[in-house]
Amino acid sequence: MLFTSSESTKINDKENARVCSACGNSVHSLFSKEGSDSSIYAIEECTGCGLWQVYPRPTAEELEKLYTGSYFHARTDRGYADYASEAVKKSIVYTLEKNLRDLKFYDWEKNLGSLKKVLDIGCAAGHAVEWFNQHGWCGEGIDVAPEMVAIGKSRNLKLHQGDFLTTPFKSHSFDLVTLWASIEHLPEPGEFFRRISRILKPGGKLYISTCHLGFFARFQGQNWRYLNVPEHLYYFTKDSLRDWASRYGLQMQRSFTYGSGLTSRENPDLMFKFSKTVFDEMARHFHLGDMIVAEFENLPASSGATAT
Ligand SMILES: [Zn+2]
Repeated sequence: MLFTSSESTKINDKENARVCSACGNSVHSLFSKEGSDSSIYAIEECTGCGLWQVYPRPTAEELEKLYTGSYFHARTDRGYADYASEAVKKSIVYTLEKNLRDLKFYDWEKNLGSLKKVLDIGCAAGHAVEWFNQHGWCGEGIDVAPEMVAIGKSRNLKLHQGDFLTTPFKSHSFDLVTLWASIEHLPEPGEFFRRISRILKPGGKLYISTCHLGFFARFQGQNWRYLNVPEHLYYFTKDSLRDWASRYGLQMQRSFTYGSGLTSRENPDLMFKFSKTVFDEMARHFHLGDMIVAEFENLPASSGATAT
């Protein structure tokens, strides 16, 4: 279903027929980029909400193939060296704890009852689920990648393998749902928002981290480090993320950005370490980071959700 570079001009012929997946406004092509499968993809911008989306979107079967085999083993810009390893786990836990601090998670959770339930969507081997279990939560996770889920299950974690949209979860049963660097991979984020708002308790929280469509994305264009197609299908500005979730009764409460475009290296020299520290701090301070983290609250059904 994907086309080769010689056919990429067709992208422009077809663009008028398509609309934004989030708000329904028209989209226009910004540029094309070669994907990890050597096909050419168009990056399209919504004229209404500013969201970037990838065209064409891979089929469900093609997406499933992307996350099997080397994705979690071969170190590339788009995958992981060895996701199940202790080193990767340590780095994931470091970022998780930093994000939770900035989301004021610890103040919020103090006021919850003794049975606190969290679901991590896109949990891979369940490093975040394990962390929550160790901190007094009852954690569950779901992921499409069978190999990763099997590793998590062997560590006695409650993980589900499959599609979140078709896996049964009890309504209003979770205090917290998390999507750590996952939403950009989803073909239908709107359907996820709809279902998340159903399984969250009223007043429950949704935490999302994703690549941030801001200064670095616009400045670096095709060379932006997170422009990994076709794995990353959507790129959000703060406003487009807020507006899309709000259609399903999920109201953004706070957000922040981090990351200056300098990706961590193994054995960095002093100059790199210094530059990264300075630029990361500036990106965070001026809200220019190329990752965004946001907290949403699940409003009661009658108070503003517009999508049905
Ligand atoms: Zn839009």
